[in-house]
Amino acid sequence: MECQICAESTSNKKYCGRCERIMEKVIRDVGPLWEKIDDCSYIYPMVKRVVDGDLKTQDVVNEILKGEAD
Ligand SMILES: [Zn+2]
Repeated sequence: MECQICAESTSNKKYCGRCERIMEKVIRDVGPLWEKIDDCSYIYPMVKRVVDGDLKTQDVVNEILKGEAD
């Protein structure tokens, strides 16, 4: 399979180990808000940028909160 975030090939998982760790951290930081997201796919590009070091987890949280406010 391919990692849904960075497209690197993975054994049999949706995310590679690196993205998985970051994804878990994002989910932990987002907390209950995560459940309110209907479509997580728009989060992936942002999580990818966290993996790349362009964004911080907090930026993703802010973006989700912004979406909530709209
Ligand atoms: Zn990955």
